[in-house]
Amino acid sequence: MIEEKFDAIVVGAGMAGNAAALTMAEGGMKVLQLERGEYSGSKNVQGAILYADMLEKLVPDFREDAPLERHLVEQRFWMMDDRSHTGLHYRSEDFNEEKPNRYTIIRAQFDKWFSQKVREAGATVLCETTVTELVRDDSGKVIGVKADRRDGEIHGDIVVLAEGVNGMLGTRAGLRERPKPEKVALAVKEMHFLPRETIEARFNLRGDEGVVIEAVGTISRGMTGMGFIYANKECISLGIGCLVADFQRTGETPYGLLDRFRRHPSVAPLIEGSEVKEYSAHLIPEGGFKAIPQLYGNGWVVIGDAAQLNNTIHREGSNLAMTSGQIAAEAILKIKSRNQPMIPHNLVLYKKMLDESFVIKDLRKYKDMPALMHTRSQNFFLTYPQLVSKAMQNFVRVDGTPKIDKEKLALKSFTNARSRSGLFGDAFRLVRAWR
Ligand SMILES: Cc1cc2nc3c(=O)[nH]c(=O)nc-3n(C[C@H](O)[C@H](O)[C@H](O)COP(=O)(O)OP(=O)(O)OC[C@H]3O[C@@H](n4cnc5c(N)ncnc54)[C@H](O)[C@@H]3O)c2cc1C
Repeated sequence: MIEEKFDAIVVGAGMAGNAAALTMAEGGMKVLQLERGEYSGSKNVQGAILYADMLEKLVPDFREDAPLERHLVEQRFWMMDDRSHTGLHYRSEDFNEEKPNRYTIIRAQFDKWFSQKVREAGATVLCETTVTELVRDDSGKVIGVKADRRDGEIHGDIVVLAEGVNGMLGTRAGLRERPKPEKVALAVKEMHFLPRETIEARFNLRGDEGVVIEAVGTISRGMTGMGFIYANKECISLGIGCLVADFQRTGETPYGLLDRFRRHPSVAPLIEGSEVKEYSAHLIPEGGFKAIPQLYGNGWVVIGDAAQLNNTIHREGSNLAMTSGQIAAEAILKIKSRNQPMIPHNLVLYKKMLDESFVIKDLRKYKDMPALMHTRSQNFFLTYPQLVSKAMQNFVRVDGTPKIDKEKLALKSFTNARSRSGLFGDAFRLVRAWR
């Protein structure tokens, strides 16, 4: 049993928990971090793109020793039907900069490194320790936690919940609801190993340059979801995820989707001859702004995926996790420096600071997108990708048909499939939700 009392107890050692623990430990607080995995990152899944700006605010010289894979110079977006893809590619030499903006990483390695920084800052990190319960005093204030590996309780002035999207602790304690099936996606991912030169040749890369491909279309069978292909140094991360509610409705399986995605004629040549060494599955919060739960309470705050802070439209999660962790820690440090108690009246500072950050500003901007994508998934993820593919093929195929007839045919295929009012309605809703 740990007899001592801590200034803060952090539950979880993912992106959010590590950011919070690091910031509080660097600020001079006595921090205990508890992680159920064998080590930080052992249970964590991500595509994974790391957004450097947010990490740099926490570990300014991270490029010196962090386990980074490739820096991204190219972003591809594919709209797919069963035999084709229509692509939007952006590549720039500007991304070959001294301090690149985005990297691919492998979470198991990255989180281990991040956790080491937390330890070096002075926090006590205990792995293989699952927090089972929050401990409250007679007034209901959270004053610590119970963990599975030791008898008794561990006390702290504040408990930071960084337990990820599926964290049971906060839901069991009644601090937030379990994520509803229409507000959470299930993603599966596999790692395809290939020689480094093969990856570079197939993706048109030099040195440590990297590329990511994000794909929507018939690969998700009309469900709300997307696929991804990320080039690492010696492996390719390939994955796909869709809303849990859609899996329930359709009876499709995640591995069935992944199998089809892997065998798609646009994808198969990229991974041909590879050896698959790792499979993983994980939930992703997709409810956006409207799904954010209460962020603070009597003796506790919640950060990262556990707080549903995930920007699905831009596929950003780890950066929101790190930033919410850092902001929560900064708010806690301020409250502590004023010798004030960790009660809602003071912890509201965390929410105020988060509201001012890109995290809430971005999520608020897209507040209507998750519901729109879900209710119109057949149109956005099936009908339109098929129509775009057909129109593109018609456009590029040279067969003696006058161009004016080709244009009329393309337009007709859209109005036949969706009618003019249907098209206008979808466009209107999309623009309104995007604003
Ligand atoms: C397939 C996939 C691809 C993704 N791709 C990207 C991407 O490319 N870029 C991006 O920015 N984001 C991406 N994300 C999202 C990103 O992974 C998350 O937003 C991010 O990991 C959230 O960090 P977190 O610290 O809140 O949660 P997590 O990283 O999930 O960490 C939670 C930690 O808490 C621990 N824990 C849980 N319960 C307990 C308990 N009771 N006691 C002790 N420990 C506990 C867990 O073991 C875990 O280590 C992706 C997610 C998935 C699933």
